[in-house]
Amino acid sequence: MTVNLFLRGSLMKNTEGCPEKIYKALSGNSVDCPKLVAPHQKHGTDLIEAELSRALPERPEADAVLLIKKDIFASLRFADCTPVVGVSEDPFDWCLLVHSGFLGTCRRAVMEAVRKTMDKTGLRELSHSHFWIGPGIGPCCYSRNSDDHLAAIGVNTLPSECWEKDGDKIFFDLPRANIILLYDIGVPEENIHNIDICTSCFADLCHSYRSGDKAERSFLLAGIYSRCHKRIHWWENMF
Ligand SMILES: [Zn+2]
Repeated sequence: MTVNLFLRGSLMKNTEGCPEKIYKALSGNSVDCPKLVAPHQKHGTDLIEAELSRALPERPEADAVLLIKKDIFASLRFADCTPVVGVSEDPFDWCLLVHSGFLGTCRRAVMEAVRKTMDKTGLRELSHSHFWIGPGIGPCCYSRNSDDHLAAIGVNTLPSECWEKDGDKIFFDLPRANIILLYDIGVPEENIHNIDICTSCFADLCHSYRSGDKAERSFLLAGIYSRCHKRIHWWENMF
């Protein structure tokens, strides 16, 4: 299995967050590269499975991609929203990618995605599953005006320890809310790994919408190789 998050740098530069351009920059259009699934992200709770019929140039709408099939890549794009990656070998290899921004977190996209993953894989409990959260915008930098109707949705749907009122602003801790959603659905605490980097504080490293990236995105890419796989892509051979 391979999971990579491509942050700010020469590869992502000038790709305007477009998955076709990003994948061309990565692969050089090599015929050895698997097909890529890259859904239109809508801040919703829809999940798709990575399959050839959904690969580019198709752009199905979804904010979660479940990877079970081999030799196809799944991807999502981020600029402040929280990436969530789940992996397990139980009951067979699978990898789950979720795009969980403010609305996605309020809608419990991560919980929905894990539930659907359990349905589709037949998994009955999550003790052998591991999840990584972030980097996403932190509570230091993510606020909404308290009279904004979306702020009210956040206050009404997120755990009280995930928001704090300060003057006329409410600051939200979206990575923490996603961690709590994973606890609540049964992922053991020790299996949740938080990458505690705020995309806005570290905008020199990560793409950040609130720090000025209107189009460019960080790129999350995952794949499961078949046993006979021999080829290593250049980005998996850096260390
Ligand atoms: Zn910050």
